[in-house]
Amino acid sequence: MKYSQAFLPTLREVPQDAVIASHRLMFRAGLLRKLANGLFAYLPLGLRSFRKIENIIREEMTAIGALELKPSVVVPAELWKESGRWDSIGESMLRVKNRLDNEFVVSPTAEEVFTSIVRDELSSYRQLPLALYQINTKFRDEVRPRYGVMRGREFTMKDAYSWHADDKSLDDTYQAFGRAYRKIFKRCGLSVIPVKADSGAMGGSGSEEFMVESDVGDNTLILCKSCDYAANVEKASCKPDFTAQNPEGAKAAASSVPAYEKIDTPNAKTIEELCAFLKTEPQKFIKTLIYRALNVELDLSSAPGCAKLERKKPSPGAPLVYAESFFAVIIRGDLDVNEIKLAAVLKASEVSLASDADVTRFTNAPVGFAGPAGLTSLPIVSDLSVTAMNDAFTGALEKDKHYKHVAYGRDFEAWLTEDLRTVKAGDKCSICGGDLYEKMGNELGHIFKLGFKYTSSMNVSFLDENGKSQMPTMGCYGIGVDRTLASVIEEHHDEGGIIWPVTVAPFHAVIVPIKFDGAAKDAACKLYADLQAQGIEVLLDDRNERPGVKFNDADLTGIPYRIVIGDKGLAASPAQVEVKKRSEKDNFMMELDKAAALLAEKIKEELKSFDV
Ligand code: ATP
Ligand code: MG
Repeated sequence: MKYSQAFLPTLREVPQDAVIASHRLMFRAGLLRKLANGLFAYLPLGLRSFRKIENIIREEMTAIGALELKPSVVVPAELWKESGRWDSIGESMLRVKNRLDNEFVVSPTAEEVFTSIVRDELSSYRQLPLALYQINTKFRDEVRPRYGVMRGREFTMKDAYSWHADDKSLDDTYQAFGRAYRKIFKRCGLSVIPVKADSGAMGGSGSEEFMVESDVGDNTLILCKSCDYAANVEKASCKPDFTAQNPEGAKAAASSVPAYEKIDTPNAKTIEELCAFLKTEPQKFIKTLIYRALNVELDLSSAPGCAKLERKKPSPGAPLVYAESFFAVIIRGDLDVNEIKLAAVLKASEVSLASDADVTRFTNAPVGFAGPAGLTSLPIVSDLSVTAMNDAFTGALEKDKHYKHVAYGRDFEAWLTEDLRTVKAGDKCSICGGDLYEKMGNELGHIFKLGFKYTSSMNVSFLDENGKSQMPTMGCYGIGVDRTLASVIEEHHDEGGIIWPVTVAPFHAVIVPIKFDGAAKDAACKLYADLQAQGIEVLLDDRNERPGVKFNDADLTGIPYRIVIGDKGLAASPAQVEVKKRSEKDNFMMELDKAAALLAEKIKEELKSFDV
């Protein structure tokens, strides 16, 4: 393409809301413009790179046998009502009505659509496994769209879904997607960190996220210094740091501890205040937090205080749930409850701290005096850390009073005991005992074993080898194309602009004649034609601009190879051009007549080096 015919508006100014490099550079290099908060237009240069990422994804999907579909983005609300997500997904989903008052959803994701298509066609086990995908527009009414296309309202996702006759087949496909994702990101020039992720209340049995390190990342990653353990903090676990690891241990040790007794703790409510008052440390406290949980799928009929709770189906396809229930969650005083783990343990759609009024209703005391001993109004959900506590301080269910000498298993029983703690830097790795540390990351992709959530709520079945009706199990696999593109720029740029990996660069090479006339013009046009004939994507800067402007734009737009044609080089014998790689400091001279062939070879070799 010739510059004079391109639509390539570069900017010197940085948009005010652009705080990260990729956001600034996508605007400055003329890749993107903003329409409204979270809504953008890709300009030609940006779209070229965008399409290259899409194609890399497409090739790797094809390589593992996934097939592309293209459903509409606006889909009937009925599908979402069937799965139960019409009620559960909340306000991020854009719902619209047409002139006939029919309800529609602007797809934020597409499990329902793909499941309904497969449901209508699936009859025999011979059709399984099946993996389908789309690369298509998604809309999510994000509360805080930010960092340009990193978190937009409308964006493009590659979303794939697979159906299987058994868990083994699901696992094979899940692993194949994991390998394909590693290849995709490698081919885009990205260093990703695959981490274990929360599989949520849906009861999925495996989930992995593909993260890139980022100071402004939304995710905290927990990594081990000594082995390759890596997990999202939402999922991360660590080696227990207590001695008695089971209730029996704590109970047995408690026999030598005096019976628990009430003590006065005037005006001390927080752990810090109590530690100061009692001259002790947070590890000696059992912290008790009252949580409100929505749509709990567990059976609570035998749980303390829950006998009267009613189980309902929020919508026809949804499972039976307790719309609202409360729990006393206990954990050692120096630790924090991980609410994602808690929601997963309770199979709840949402958990949050109960209101002050609810705390008082259940504990008969103001906030700050809850404790497990003597608490009968609520099921107690305990973190593993408490199982080792046999001589602890806790709230006494009374204003300005606490208990001392409280022992797990002796003075109260937990209804559930699970790992609920938030892992922090400095905790020990559960695999090798090494030190864990934290990094911030952005999620580019996510693979997930879904299980029967959608095939059950949407009634999907097939006949197995014995002619028996079975329900297929499912996986789902997403990659954000826009976020991947922005992340490439985050990882590959300098003060001058973008430094594209050749695989996703909008053009492989840019020809910059110092002056576009005379012999330089002739040489530039010939090289342009020759490179194109070799299959190289090349931009010719045929503008009548100062060389400095052209060089700055070449740096800003980040095209991997720059070829400068000037009178001095042309006057040499044989005639020379100057070649500079955007990623390197030094340039080198190349014979004009051989430049097309040599450069084409170099570029093709470089492209190949990304194949894994
Ligand atoms: P996040 O936690 O960042 O909101 P998510 O877990 O909700 O993402 P998924 O539903 O797993 O996202 O979607 C798959 C991929 O789609 C993500 O890994 C990400 O790359 C991309 N994605 C999700 N939301 C956005 C958005 N608002 N803007 C751009 N890309 C997005
Ligand atoms: Mg995700």
